[in-house]
Parts: sequence; C-alpha cells; structure tokens
Amino acid sequence: MVIEHVTLIDGTGAAPAQMHTVILRGRKIQWVGPDAEAPLTDTEAGRIDGRGQFLLPGFIDSHVHLAMPAGQLSGTAMLHLPPRYGYYAAIPLLRATLDAGVTTVRDLGGIDMATEVAIERGLIEGPEIIFAYRALGPTGGHGDFRTCCGFNQGEAISPNGDIGFLTDGVDEALRNTREVMRLGGKVIKVMASGGVWSPRDTPWHDGLNIAEMRAIVEEAGSHGVPVAAHAQSARSISNALVAGVRSIEHGYEIDDQAIELMLAKDSFLVPTLSTGTIPPDPARAASYAVEKKLRLQEKLHGCVSKAISAGVKVALGTDAGVCEHGTNLAELGHLVDFGMSPMDALVAGTLNAAKLLQLEDRVGSIELGKDADLVLTNVDPLNSIHALADPKNIDIVFAKGRMVKDIRASVPAGVGA
Ligand SMILES: [Zn+2]
Repeated sequence: MVIEHVTLIDGTGAAPAQMHTVILRGRKIQWVGPDAEAPLTDTEAGRIDGRGQFLLPGFIDSHVHLAMPAGQLSGTAMLHLPPRYGYYAAIPLLRATLDAGVTTVRDLGGIDMATEVAIERGLIEGPEIIFAYRALGPTGGHGDFRTCCGFNQGEAISPNGDIGFLTDGVDEALRNTREVMRLGGKVIKVMASGGVWSPRDTPWHDGLNIAEMRAIVEEAGSHGVPVAAHAQSARSISNALVAGVRSIEHGYEIDDQAIELMLAKDSFLVPTLSTGTIPPDPARAASYAVEKKLRLQEKLHGCVSKAISAGVKVALGTDAGVCEHGTNLAELGHLVDFGMSPMDALVAGTLNAAKLLQLEDRVGSIELGKDADLVLTNVDPLNSIHALADPKNIDIVFAKGRMVKDIRASVPAGVGA
C-alpha cells in the first residue's frame, strides 16, 4: 500500500513535511520520504492519493476503561448489571475507539486477556491493548464499589465492581501485583487517592499508603512492569511519586512540590481532561459524586496548566468509560485549552504516550520499521486541533497495516467524483 502526496506529521514533534509518501508492507512501515524519492517499483500496490490531507500516527489513549459503557448508563444503573456484561459492551466500544483514530489503548481496569486475544485472533476489531486487569485499592477506597448492604470480597457485582482488587497491607499488595501479572497485566494500576465515584471516600483521602505502593512498584519493576497511580489530591500525587510510580493519572490538584518531584523522577502526567472538565450531571450522578466533582473542578485548570507550562511530560489519556468512548481525540483540544501547543498535544497523543507504555520501539511515530498504525484526515491539526474530536473527520485508519476505517467506502455508489 502506498499513501502519497500527504502532509506528514510524524509524531516526533518534527515540523510537518509536505508532499510525502509512506509505503506499507504487511504490518510495518517500509518506507517514508518525499514523493520525489519514493521507490515505487511495485506496480501492483494499492494507492491512496492523500493530496491536501494530513497523515499522522495512530493515536494512543493511555487511560480507558473499555468494559465500562459510559454514556449509555448512569453509574447506579451500571452497578446492577451482571458481571460479564462489560465484555459484550466493549465490542462496539473497541470499534468506536478505532474509528476515533486510536490504534493503541492502555485499559486501567476492566478488560482482561480475553479481549486482547480476541482482537489478535481477529474475532473482534479493536486497538492494541495494554491492560491493568484490575486496580489495586484499599478496602472502602476508590475501586471498592461493593454496595454497603452486602457482597463479599471477590464477588464481582458489575462491570464496575469488576475493576478492583481490594488490597490492604504490603502482603496483599505483593500478592495482588503478582496476580495481575499472572493474568497477563502489563501495567499495575494503584489507587493513591480516593475518587469521585467511590461511595466511601473522597479525592482528598489517601488510598494505598507509600509502603504499599513502594512494594508494588518494586515487585512489578522486577518484571519490567510499570505502575500507574490514580492520584487526584496534591498529597496523593507526591505519595505515589515518592513510591516510584511511572505515571500520575488525573493529577487534578498537582502542586509545586508534586511538579518538582515529577520533573526530578521523569514521570508522566495523564491529566484525563476529557473526564475532568465534564460538569457533573445531578440527573445521572449520586449527590456525593456531584459535590466532589465540583470541588475538584475549582482548581483543575490552574493546577494542570501550571504542570504543563513547567514542562512535565504529558501523555494523552481520557478516562473513556467514565466519559464517552469514541471521541478520544477531544483530549487534544483540551490539552491545548490548558496551554499546550498543538504540536506538543499531538506528541502527547503519539510518541510520548508510546514511551509511557514502553512501546516506542514499535508505535507512536511514522518511522521506518514501525507498525503501520496511521490516521489520514482532512483536518489541519496545527490550526484546527479541536476538529479531530469528531470521528467524521478521521477519514482513514490503518492498524498494523490493515485499513480498518475508510469513510470513502461509506459514500453511496454514484456520489462523488
Ligand atoms: Zn480511570
């Protein structure tokens, strides 16, 4: 397959290159360069004329929950679903994620190896998945969605109830870390603070303590597995960084001390602004969740903007599952609204996110030998980045060399040139 005459934005932060050609072979990018130098010897190859269009790497959403069908159901309704519903609900959501231009995701609670294998074997369509399986959090903390009137530990009650492993003390921290890795988890998710949706804590309560998180970081690290921390209060962000986590998820109240720690430890911030900026809806959310969300939003813009301008490394993540699936690239616009340049936002959604996921040798940029994960769009991302949020503006998506979306194909016969 030959994609020619495009304006190439390769994901590394390099300036756009006009009139470029990319040649794919199998799953890989075989050649990238100016049209005039393209070695077009294979006359049988399929061709896409990308004149006037922009070719970008397939995007990476570093924070999703594909087993959580947000938008279709209120949080309370989700708690009443049978435990395995999430697997079926994920099938159209995986498809919608690809359609949005996202070819790699990190699922931080919900999806397990069954989904990964089903995609690899072609049973269902979806992006490449790095999954955490279940998040480790304390009894009564974020991730403990047992109702107050019953259910024993380990008894899954819903897609939501399925996302956590209750973890109290260093021994359980070690056992649950090993359990996640035994089940194929490539990242460990820990709850360093409480959260908005959990019924018995708040974002200003600590989750796991430093000793528990440090044990998890060391154990996972000995297997090359990084740790991602849900951390919303300033104190919990610092706790998680002291324990050695690779990424701070949300980080809504990040302060100067936490920013300094992030820079010193070279860790990533995944600010999930797609979820953070949504006004809480009293018709759908419990009153305790509405109150907590409103309080979090008071400092959100000031804190995250400050971290961005301080030069903290940012990887794109939406928390889709809590916010809607299928408009993942709205996060790019939010990052720009919070002070990032459009080019830096694109890098946050491509090469930086690939580095966070430890996949930068294979995905995250359009370079020779990398996986052919590509997005072709009419939108000039440097001038109209907010427009990438609409999947209708994502014309063509390649995942591992296979064209998984082509809006030209959906044009009825006889319409167009
Ligand atoms: Zn999340």
